[in-house]
Amino acid sequence: DELISQIAAGEVVERPASAVRELLDNALDAGARQITVRLLAGGVRLLSVEDDGAGIAQDQLALALRRHATSKIASLDELESVLTMGFRGEALAAIASVSELSLLSRPAGQASAFLLDARSGELRPAARSPGTTVEIKELFFATPARRKFLKSDATELAHCVQAVRRHALVRPDVGFALWHEGRLVEQWRPTWSGPAAGTHDAAWREALGQRLADVLGEDFVLQAVPVHRRVGSVVVTGWAGLPDAARSRADQQYCYVNGRFVRDRVLAHATRSAYEDLLHGQRQPVYALYLELDPQRVDVNVHPTKIEVRFRDSREVHQAVRHALDDALAAPRA
Ligand code: ADP
Ligand code: MG
Repeated sequence: DELISQIAAGEVVERPASAVRELLDNALDAGARQITVRLLAGGVRLLSVEDDGAGIAQDQLALALRRHATSKIASLDELESVLTMGFRGEALAAIASVSELSLLSRPAGQASAFLLDARSGELRPAARSPGTTVEIKELFFATPARRKFLKSDATELAHCVQAVRRHALVRPDVGFALWHEGRLVEQWRPTWSGPAAGTHDAAWREALGQRLADVLGEDFVLQAVPVHRRVGSVVVTGWAGLPDAARSRADQQYCYVNGRFVRDRVLAHATRSAYEDLLHGQRQPVYALYLELDPQRVDVNVHPTKIEVRFRDSREVHQAVRHALDDALAAPRA
């Protein structure tokens, strides 16, 4: 099958945080408005993600676990302009192969929820309000080599927090909560109540700013300069922290492309060069930038984790970010 071969197999989960990321993507694709993550022992012993999204029908539960089974795209053409976070249909299958995974779900129209145990294949009715809970126990229990490379619970937890943060910073319409060992670690309430808009909407940008304040701190948003500029076919929105910020951390740089958190050399270079005069490479700026461009002009199917992208015209994207930041960072100095 051509679609299957296009979707290269690969490593999806390397640590609990990668599972958190995949499950959050799925919850968001299902239209969730509230997502709760619960962890034990940094997510290694138990990791569950609970959502109030569309749910999975009883007769689709087993299919959801099958490798390369996705309900999100049906053809190669759709892969060209994919709008959902997921599309490869491999996350649940991959995670289930290295853990004890169960799926508990109920679509709104279904009288009861059903629980599917991935290992035994047992399916039985259960109680749940509409939505889905994916529970993962003993991640990497069968792959001791992988498990050995995990860090302390505190470190794994920190990576999980970071995964939730990355999603929270782009979805102010969704509430997020993260529990560890029965303790509430982070909780961000929705700052937007309608259907998800986009950065072209000033009210959405305000809600996004509020979410940034909740996640990164009020002081970040107060001292950051807003960015909102179209350069060619690329729209760059966000907040760029100024160098006098007390905080200076390498992990506080957030770039999104069409709503997806990405790590990208072109974007990193463009931001670094825009900040060069201000920071002289001394400190790490804090910023959150949201790029919007024609989905046909960016390939998100580069890596199984979908954290890397390939731009059709990377010069265009580089210039857009550079110009948008140059403008924004010049303003307060004028
Ligand atoms: P992908 O997200 O690439 O489609 P996954 O392995 O992550 O692949 O998920 C497989 C399928 O399971 C999805 O296509 C979707 O139909 C279903 N699914 C997974 N998680 C959820 C969820 N939280 N709510 C509703 N459906 C889900
Ligand atoms: Mg997925």
